[in-house]
Amino acid sequence: MTWRVGALVLVVLAAAAAVVGAVPLARDVVAGRGTPVIEDVPGPDTGPVCPVDERYVDEEPAGLRDDVLAAWRALRSAAQESGVPLCLNDGKRSAGQQRAEFDEAVRRFGTPELAANYVLPPERSNHVKGFAVDVQPWAAAEWVAANGGVHGWCRRYENEYWHFEYDPAHPQGCPAMLPDATAG
Ligand SMILES: [Zn+2]
Repeated sequence: MTWRVGALVLVVLAAAAAVVGAVPLARDVVAGRGTPVIEDVPGPDTGPVCPVDERYVDEEPAGLRDDVLAAWRALRSAAQESGVPLCLNDGKRSAGQQRAEFDEAVRRFGTPELAANYVLPPERSNHVKGFAVDVQPWAAAEWVAANGGVHGWCRRYENEYWHFEYDPAHPQGCPAMLPDATAG
């Protein structure tokens, strides 16, 4: 359409919006169903083999929060420029995906308390909240631990060299690590 028609359409839409007010438009989500909450958004279960270490995979970063996705891409580019390929061994998980992993760990280790030493329940996992990534192989994770802070990526747990979380609010550098995920 021409810009004149486009402008007219915008004016009409604006007028309609003013008249309609709070009444939901047809293209809005189905009544009673809000926009998806981040905890319900799944990530890939797996991905192609990590080119630099076949013990790991390199998932698509699908499902991460938008700002986290952009930050992940920036981090990956910076690493690539330094000659360090990063593989995303695990990123986003839905609460359901995390629940399945946790239930499996409970079967393996016997009790929820023991299982939580290895896999967090969904309500405590930052992978479910969409701002955690697991980076492999070891050399890649080391690079992120040393250089990720300026991009907002911090290693959080002493016992998980691969686990990083995005939080741009660390102007003084990354906070002190916790011994493990159960300590937080
Ligand atoms: Zn992790």
